Amino acid sequence: MTGAEDRTETVCRVCGFEGEVFWEGGWPNEAAICPCCGNEPDVGDAGVMGLRNYRGYWVGQGAPWSSPSAERRHKHRGWDLLEQMRNIPPQWR
Ligand SMILES: [Zn+2]
Repeated sequence: MTGAEDRTETVCRVCGFEGEVFWEGGWPNEAAICPCCGNEPDVGDAGVMGLRNYRGYWVGQGAPWSSPSAERRHKHRGWDLLEQMRNIPPQWR
């Protein structure tokens, strides 16, 4: 069995965006920044309350993408925020 510490997370804990390595071996990948919500993985994210605060703030701003080119690519494919948010692992919702 693999512990949570060994897992690589490729889904943003805040917005559910998939495609970057955000966490590896229980540590934040400091080079990663979510092209969608702009969250940088941080040990502070280990608490679900902080994530909920950030997510609430971000959605309250209209859920702006931090990367315009990624936004164009995804919106072109019919990106849907609520659908993406279903990717958020249950423990971070
Ligand atoms: Zn995100």
